[in-house]
Amino acid sequence: MSRYVKENVKRKLLEETQFRCGYCLTSIEFGLDDSNFFQFGEKAHLTPHNETEDNSFENLITLCPTCHTKFDKNPDKQGSVARLKELKRHWFIASGTYTKLELDCLFALFQKKNVTWIKEESFKDGNGNAFTALSFSTPANQGYLFQNLINNGLVNPVLEKGAFQGNKLVLGPSRPAHDMLVFILTTKGKEFCRKFLS
Ligand SMILES: [Zn+2]
Repeated sequence: MSRYVKENVKRKLLEETQFRCGYCLTSIEFGLDDSNFFQFGEKAHLTPHNETEDNSFENLITLCPTCHTKFDKNPDKQGSVARLKELKRHWFIASGTYTKLELDCLFALFQKKNVTWIKEESFKDGNGNAFTALSFSTPANQGYLFQNLINNGLVNPVLEKGAFQGNKLVLGPSRPAHDMLVFILTTKGKEFCRKFLS
């Protein structure tokens, strides 16, 4: 029973989840951090290996060791297979549409990640009602970096705190660099994130 996974498949698997656990989204990036020289993801089989011995890209997904164990030990085997297949489909769409930067920022908002670039701020909706939301910001002339998130309605760009510009927003180098775009997660963005995490 060979568990051999081809080198190019291993690489594609890491690229598919953009160096994250495909389930909990933890970064499994290679590199130095305080405690580890390298952090490795694991390759989990969708249909269990002992059933089909299928080590193809289509039957594998990158998971962190904790999630891999959780899926393997789940007594509901069918449920595990179904969920992993579902995750595989979501990653196919996500990594084909969004950059790593876009997904990092989106997931950070959703997970309320405690990083300095995410702030809780107050905004006004179209009717002038105030509400607070987590946000991150970028100079408006770099808005193109988040274009796909914006176009697909996963984040809402707010130009200059409090003023909703909605779809009328024009991005690009013509926008003065001191204008800041502030992004908040939309309902659609939350739905998108939940597909990975619940
Ligand atoms: Zn995980």
